[in-house]
Amino acid sequence: MFLKTVEVPVYIEQYQAYVRRLPPSQLRHNLESQFKKYWTGFRGEQMLEPLLASLPDKEYLIFHDLRLFNGVHYFQIDYLILTAKFILVLEVKNIAGTLTLDFLAHILTRLLNNKREIFQDPTVQSEMLKKQLQDWLAEHCGYLPGMPVEDIVVFASPSTFIRFINAINHEDQKVIRSSQLKKKTIAINNQLNSRVISSKMLKSVSKELIKGHHPKTLDLIRDGTVSCVDLIKGVRCPHCDYIPMIRLHRNWKCPSCRQTAPKAYFQALQDYRLLMGPKITTQDCKQFLQLESTSTSKYLLQTMHPNYTGNTSNRTYYLTEK
Ligand SMILES: [Zn+2]
Repeated sequence: MFLKTVEVPVYIEQYQAYVRRLPPSQLRHNLESQFKKYWTGFRGEQMLEPLLASLPDKEYLIFHDLRLFNGVHYFQIDYLILTAKFILVLEVKNIAGTLTLDFLAHILTRLLNNKREIFQDPTVQSEMLKKQLQDWLAEHCGYLPGMPVEDIVVFASPSTFIRFINAINHEDQKVIRSSQLKKKTIAINNQLNSRVISSKMLKSVSKELIKGHHPKTLDLIRDGTVSCVDLIKGVRCPHCDYIPMIRLHRNWKCPSCRQTAPKAYFQALQDYRLLMGPKITTQDCKQFLQLESTSTSKYLLQTMHPNYTGNTSNRTYYLTEK
């Protein structure tokens, strides 16, 4: 059972919004590379969702993308599986090509299109996450006597070819392909004899994990990486991507492809939320949607049914997710 479901993390949506709203530049190119890297990682995690969903519902409590704080820094776990007998940390990799994992040198080499690339040994990473989680649990969930915490690396893509070298201590047992995930999880469960924690404790640990999750967010405007004036303002045409569409007779018309889209401003306001935060005034909206009239700006904001503070002339609205 998923207690934290698989959703696109907000920082990935933010990278995408920056790319949509910046003109071509080295900065946009860098942000696009970041977006692609994180999106590929997320797609790998998403591929495991149906496999995890097929585990017995009541026994396996599943958390996707947990980002916990250990007092010094944050650590992020792709999937955490909590049962009454053990906890399993999954580090998911979505790397295409032919891979060689060397357990002695602790490097992962990828060969793709005649290009060789080196990555860190993912088992080192998953081992570190396991230790960080154990410390976190000791601090936040009290003493969990004898609760085993296991970590495995899962290669999500079925088209990845992987070979192991120098696995002298059976380190390769910790690295699996996605097709082996269910079998491996059940095998770990069957190796362990009895439950270590009660149903009440399971609930309490679950609650702490959810409470301890701090989603990663980007604020490239506040940290000075992106300047507000550089952002492309206006409503994007959903048919041809042209910006800005023109507000005409309670509709949006594209000057480029001539098509209309009455709800096209929804996406623009979602971009505003991702880039500038949820707070928006009528003036901010007028400027971002490139409107001529303040009353249209007010009308469009109100159609989103947002919460607000302030009186009629000085109102701040709070945009929410779609
Ligand atoms: Zn168009």
